[in-house]
Amino acid sequence: MILTVNTSRPYRILIERGCLGRAGEEAARVFPKGAKAAVVTDSNVGPVYARRIAASFSAAGFQTSVFTFPAGEEHKRLSVVSEMYAAFSEQELTRSDFIAALGGGVTGDLAGFAAATYLRGIRFLQIPTSLLAQIDSSVGGKTGADLPEGKNLVGAFHQPSLVLIDPDTLSTLPEPFFADGMGEAVKYGCIRDRALFEKIAEGNIKEEMESMICRCVDIKRELVERDELDNGDRMLLNFGHTFGHALEKLHGYKGLTHGEAVGIGMVMMCRCSEAAGLTEPGTAGKIASALRTYGLPVSDQMEPNRIAEAARLDKKSRGGSINLVLLRKIGESFLHPVPRGELGRFLEALS
Ligand code: NAD
Repeated sequence: MILTVNTSRPYRILIERGCLGRAGEEAARVFPKGAKAAVVTDSNVGPVYARRIAASFSAAGFQTSVFTFPAGEEHKRLSVVSEMYAAFSEQELTRSDFIAALGGGVTGDLAGFAAATYLRGIRFLQIPTSLLAQIDSSVGGKTGADLPEGKNLVGAFHQPSLVLIDPDTLSTLPEPFFADGMGEAVKYGCIRDRALFEKIAEGNIKEEMESMICRCVDIKRELVERDELDNGDRMLLNFGHTFGHALEKLHGYKGLTHGEAVGIGMVMMCRCSEAAGLTEPGTAGKIASALRTYGLPVSDQMEPNRIAEAARLDKKSRGGSINLVLLRKIGESFLHPVPRGELGRFLEALS
């Protein structure tokens, strides 16, 4: 399947089993003949896939190099981006060359940020290999790195020039990361597509992985096109993230993964909004049951007032109120601004 994202600079997303082997051919439709290709990957993904990508790029006439950094969120930092700049300079990469991000969301965010900033911006290609990256982070142009003060505090909007999604790469993805991605897939069903939600909730999704990825990516495409810079409808993608981020922070970014935290955040948010009469009763229970199917947790012992406080102080929220993402029912979401100081009252339903 091919989707086109009509952002300020439109680009194509190819979703097809086995398309990794055609990476060079596909890149040749977008990047100039003879360009240099700097593949950026991590220490888990590189050994499995980088050689195949490099061979495909070289066969298509690109001069290819590979930069590998240690895998893991703890390496999503500016010092690794600096090392990338050094490697790109050494290879004398120019603005007619390109970067290829091969890996999960950490690789895509870091390589995308390096692409956004090196020489004030060169083009890049996303080849996402984790489920989360395939359905979410590789599309939409959010790039960045973490700071010691918090996650994703530095970044830039920089849309890729092409996204190649090969669902076959998920065969080597460790199960906990697969579950993490399923948390995000449940989110897409919740905010936009009841039928997708029900299909996911049934289980057996591995047999329909390609069509699930296509549907999730298409939802992201639609929201990104409507709101490229994240000032309105794109925020609906943050369903579950207000309390999810708060929980990740309170757990010191250890113990709970991002997907687990977002899953718990979705259930918590729905329990509160059901109590406030804003959401169809029973919605939180349905989400919890879908998450359990993929082994994801649905609750946390953290006290509601600590969660409210952490969410209230979120560095990335703006103004005097917080835009909560709520569901009317499964498949229908809306933004609900709540004054910062009233967040605790909203969360009282959990006490
Ligand atoms: P990740 O990149 O750390 O990948 C998870 C793990 O799986 C890593 O150990 C990685 O090496 C490994 N891996 C990935 N693909 C593999 C494969 N096919 N085979 C074997 N191992 C593989 O993390 P993630 O879960 O992919 O993404 C999380 C990151 O994405 C976070 O930093 C988050 O902030 C970011 N994110 C960004 C956006 C965005 O819009 N830019 C959206 C959501 C999340």
